[in-house]
Amino acid sequence: MSKYTAPRGTKDITPDDMPFWHYIESTSRSLFSLYNYQEIRTPVFEHTELFERGIGDSTDIVEKEMYTFSDKGDRRLTLRPEGTAPIVRAYVQHGMHSKSKVSKLYYCGPMFRYERPQAGRYRQFHQIGVESLGSALPICDAEVIAMGVHLFDELGLSGLSVAINSVGCPVCRPVIEERLKQFIGLNLEHLCGDCNRRFDSRPLRILDCKNSTCKTYMTGLPDIRDSLCHECKDHFNYVVGYLDNLGIPFQINPQLVRGLDYYTRTTFEIGSDQLGAQNALCGGGRYDGLVSQLGGPATPAVGFAFGIERAVMILQEMSDYHQRVNPLVYVAPVGFDQVAKSFLLVDRIRRAGYRVELETSKNELKTHLKQADKLNARLVLIYGEDEANVDKVLVRRMADRTQELIPFDHALEYIVSELEDDTF
Ligand SMILES: [Zn+2]
Ligand SMILES: [Zn+2]
Repeated sequence: MSKYTAPRGTKDITPDDMPFWHYIESTSRSLFSLYNYQEIRTPVFEHTELFERGIGDSTDIVEKEMYTFSDKGDRRLTLRPEGTAPIVRAYVQHGMHSKSKVSKLYYCGPMFRYERPQAGRYRQFHQIGVESLGSALPICDAEVIAMGVHLFDELGLSGLSVAINSVGCPVCRPVIEERLKQFIGLNLEHLCGDCNRRFDSRPLRILDCKNSTCKTYMTGLPDIRDSLCHECKDHFNYVVGYLDNLGIPFQINPQLVRGLDYYTRTTFEIGSDQLGAQNALCGGGRYDGLVSQLGGPATPAVGFAFGIERAVMILQEMSDYHQRVNPLVYVAPVGFDQVAKSFLLVDRIRRAGYRVELETSKNELKTHLKQADKLNARLVLIYGEDEANVDKVLVRRMADRTQELIPFDHALEYIVSELEDDTF
């Protein structure tokens, strides 16, 4: 084993994995642009207070999972554990609310949580997320959910379904919490310390307690949607109506509250039958109070985020997934004197937009061909003394081992037409 390894809970994204990452990132970017979303990038660390106020100080994230430190200027800083609070901070800081009625933003980058590492779960993990700020309309929730489903469809995942719930608004939340407390209160002594501590101030958090004993006491829980106010009920019915209209399958899950305090009304998760039932690919919801809570004007908003690691794992398990890469040209100068002119040809091919491997450390034609085979090159260009004497290049097609001598100055044209030929 090497002397130094990546810290526990982190991992290198190696060149073998990278095509999957690029595929997910580029598919996400082009899909989000169809919905007219724009990218935003925020720092990986923020003032700790942003997360304490934004995510809620009685959540697992803030209580147990944040990487918090003081810098040399004694500022309390935290590596971002999620993307929404920083986006909202930037939205307020840049006065985006005054520039357009609705701001549609997406982000992509590393997040940090001190969690127990398990398969597909890391302490530095990566999320892609979207935030639509400025509209309170239920069509907006439905559009964000539909966009998530569209994205995973586009990535090639099958059996997608949405789990959805409403966690109410400041008007009906106290009613919901009261009913929950009546139900949970009967068994409070059996629940864990966290649940007991959160019972009075944040009873909704008990629903996402990860403790398995606590979970067993949640069966028979009253449907919190019965306590929703009229506006919240209407909103929810419209959202599921729009999903129905698009033919997006969904199940209502009355216990789905998500582990963050800022959600209001809609909460949702998107899952795939390629994952276990408990495993969501993506989660999100509406957060109408967060912008004002972080010092901005009252602004309704809705968004989602998903973990790239998990999406990569699923794609890697799918046997029918093949990465398309553009074909490789292998250029083999035979002899040192042929290197400069070969390099010139290589430069021309690369500028035409093709992938080229220039190999100058081998002098034997045989070893060149072996290496080209290993790299899966489509064409090999051989340029040795014989070719130089007649000012030509030998172009060898690796698929059928045929080859042809082409005048040096026509080589580029010939190679491009060979590579454009898609019958290989
Ligand atoms: Zn309400
Ligand atoms: Zn608990």
